[in-house]
Amino acid sequence: MARVGVVGGGIFGLFVARHLAREGTEVTVFEEGPAGAGSVHAAGIIEPTTAYRTNTFAFLRHVGRLWTHRTTTFRSVDPRWLVESARQMGRAAFPGSEEALHAIGVACLRQYRALADEADDFGFAARGLLERYDDPITFAEARRTAVERASRVPVELRDGEWGAGSLYFPEVAWVDTERTVDRLVRELPAGTLVRARVERVGADGSLWVGGSERRFDSVVLCAGVACRRAGVPLTGVRGYGWTVRSRTPVETATIYVDRGIAVVPLAGGLKTTGGWDFDLGTSPWHASSIEGAIRRVVAVDQIGPRQQGSRPCTPDGLPTVGRRDRLVAATGGFRLGWSFAPELGRLAARLAAGQGENDPFLSRFCGDLHGAVL
Ligand SMILES: Cc1cc2nc3c(=O)[nH]c(=O)nc-3n(C[C@H](O)[C@H](O)[C@H](O)COP(=O)(O)OP(=O)(O)OC[C@H]3O[C@@H](n4cnc5c(N)ncnc54)[C@H](O)[C@@H]3O)c2cc1C
Repeated sequence: MARVGVVGGGIFGLFVARHLAREGTEVTVFEEGPAGAGSVHAAGIIEPTTAYRTNTFAFLRHVGRLWTHRTTTFRSVDPRWLVESARQMGRAAFPGSEEALHAIGVACLRQYRALADEADDFGFAARGLLERYDDPITFAEARRTAVERASRVPVELRDGEWGAGSLYFPEVAWVDTERTVDRLVRELPAGTLVRARVERVGADGSLWVGGSERRFDSVVLCAGVACRRAGVPLTGVRGYGWTVRSRTPVETATIYVDRGIAVVPLAGGLKTTGGWDFDLGTSPWHASSIEGAIRRVVAVDQIGPRQQGSRPCTPDGLPTVGRRDRLVAATGGFRLGWSFAPELGRLAARLAAGQGENDPFLSRFCGDLHGAVL
């Protein structure tokens, strides 16, 4: 039986493990924190039809608007990512990438739906996404794009409902991130998840835990922003999540686009998230400012513990999955990691099992993948 080691039990690592286990591979996931550690802070909005490229001037303008709302900051970025991002700025999308991501997004939603059909114990709700805009120029741009792709991505225009206007995307869903992690872990074979920090990975299927070497047929690196140490040009864009009790009625997942805040109605309260900090550190120094921005959109009667994580961002903002020797990397989920993880996890599992070749688009940032100290 093939043996695969997975580094990182965030949402990418858990889906990779799920697919490998279902194919009969013996899989071990090494996660230094609790299961889902790097991913549970997220809002859990599953957007099957969207991709956010960061190498565009529209994205830079968006970051400028977040700056005026004090929900983005710049502290530290990966130098290789910065150089590659400058090179990629303004470039046309990789040929075929929009269609490929669309197909991946749709396949992901199908996987979440199939999980919910088996047992809906993770708060799956397919009730759409409302995007609210404060700024008339952003809204005009977003509305134009939405109208252009309306044949592929159904949308309703809701002028005048909030600030500059709103867009409603009926095909978007959401999940409760903590309950989804519980479900995925519960369905893995006993003993799959090992709470341990991986110190080093090799390109030859080796990894080191607690000073000892372990050997696998393949190793899948799903360590989030830490994948940058193994040659993937990535930086981290940090953010925070809180579950709050609120008297504000919220019917559907809502993103306050210009403020970088998301609000999702769950059985146990509202999941609220925000923060776009370009920061490779772990200090929650900006959390109180994000909490303030959340309190400006919903009434907070009671607030739960703060969760935090980082969006792994490639130089074009789109995900990357590729294999070199016996090492596979799956990362770059950026602001849509939950939306892409089920299908990218399946593709990474296939590469780890020696099935299929690197996809030219998906593997574009994995060419320099190498063994590394993590
Ligand atoms: C505020 C916010 C809201 C978001 N909302 C959404 C949303 O609504 N929808 C959506 O689709 N996406 C959302 N995202 C994006 C999504 O959360 C990320 O893209 C996703 O978490 C990335 O998953 P990952 O598994 O690649 O990395 P991570 O979540 O970072 O997981 C990596 C894991 O690897 C572990 N690890 C790292 N190094 C080691 C090591 N050496 N040994 C062992 N373990 C290690 C870490 O502890 C971590 O648990 C949001 C992000 C933020 C910041």
